[in-house]
Amino acid sequence: MATKKQKRQILLASIAGFLLLVIILLIVLIIQVIKLNSIDTEPSSSAAGTAVTQVQPSGKEDNGRTSNKSSDESQVPAVTYTKTHPYAPKRGIRHLHTGNQSAENTQSSEDSGDSAPSGQESSVNNEDPSASKETSESSETGKVNGSSEGSQPAAALFSTKSLTMTEDDIHKGILQLVNKQTEYLFKDEWLMRMYDLDGYGYYLDEYSIEMAEPAAYHMNDFLNAFYDETGILNVYMMNGYRTPEDADWLFNRSAEENGMEHAMRYVMRAGFSEHHIGCSSDLGLIEGGPYFYAEEGSAYYWIYDHAADYGFVLRYPGHKEDITEIGEETWHFRYVSVPVANYMYANDLVLEEFLEEIRSYDAASPLKIKVTQGPEAGSYAVYYQPGLTISVPSDKDYVLSGNNVDGFLIVVDLN
Ligand SMILES: [Zn+2]
Repeated sequence: MATKKQKRQILLASIAGFLLLVIILLIVLIIQVIKLNSIDTEPSSSAAGTAVTQVQPSGKEDNGRTSNKSSDESQVPAVTYTKTHPYAPKRGIRHLHTGNQSAENTQSSEDSGDSAPSGQESSVNNEDPSASKETSESSETGKVNGSSEGSQPAAALFSTKSLTMTEDDIHKGILQLVNKQTEYLFKDEWLMRMYDLDGYGYYLDEYSIEMAEPAAYHMNDFLNAFYDETGILNVYMMNGYRTPEDADWLFNRSAEENGMEHAMRYVMRAGFSEHHIGCSSDLGLIEGGPYFYAEEGSAYYWIYDHAADYGFVLRYPGHKEDITEIGEETWHFRYVSVPVANYMYANDLVLEEFLEEIRSYDAASPLKIKVTQGPEAGSYAVYYQPGLTISVPSDKDYVLSGNNVDGFLIVVDLN
């Protein structure tokens, strides 16, 4: 029999043991909570696999223009933003749906939070993917830059699924038509400052110049590449995105200075300026400018020769004024994606013509485009889908854009 004293000692030992256990459990719990918190504070990476890049914005050059080449970091704090490979077609483009991942991704909307389509069903049908891959690869050889490779059955290129879009979605994306008849409705939310990119081969007229994300990254790469190729640091971006107020101000000033006829020919009224989309920029020359122009054979001609490699087209060529209803602008570049720009350039089409032509291509027989040079060289397919229930690839990356009129264009990356 234990004495009272022994009993008390056993009781105390039990309590001490219990308390020790509780303390150990608490410590383990605290460690777990700290671990979880540290995961939450790490940069979130999206489904597209983004990585965070630290960028040192530029300082100001003595001519008053901004160049990302100089590095006077004291003026503006460093900016952090997320960035994938700059040439990835998916980079920053809204309406991106990556189909060639696991089955669970095709079921869920990975673009949560932005303008992802309101509903999705999948209906995939491709009996033999390996055989179809061979078909598409073997059909790609020996083709001309930017040319059509003709229609191909969808089974040979990609599988499809159905997406339900909203009316607003028609008025979003990189391939919208905005001209004197077609008003921009300001549904996109995708602007970013050019100043925050790692530009070094060009100047900005103002720190505040903005472009739509995909256009911004491609313009930055385009103008850096021009500098890399030529060593010329004389090109500047005069502008990018314009607000309706900007457009009104420009129109009124042009009408005052040059007369109404001139203003009507060159300047768009608020709502009808392509600059509202954020995919256009007027380029300038600091010396020999202000507006960009290059003679064939001059070093500056590289800009015209390679714009399509970075997804840009000269939007208002002189010989198409009857279609665009805008006088020749040798300086106004519009982002339309690399494959579409290649096709338009090779076939001498303006956007109005391309958007008409693409109406005869659908998911079953898309327009195939081979891009033979530049950072996004490869094979692509483009097609049109009217209405709000559309077919998109279920096993390929693609970019989806409204045409701002009545339907959608799908640019499929076949690589
Ligand atoms: Zn312009």
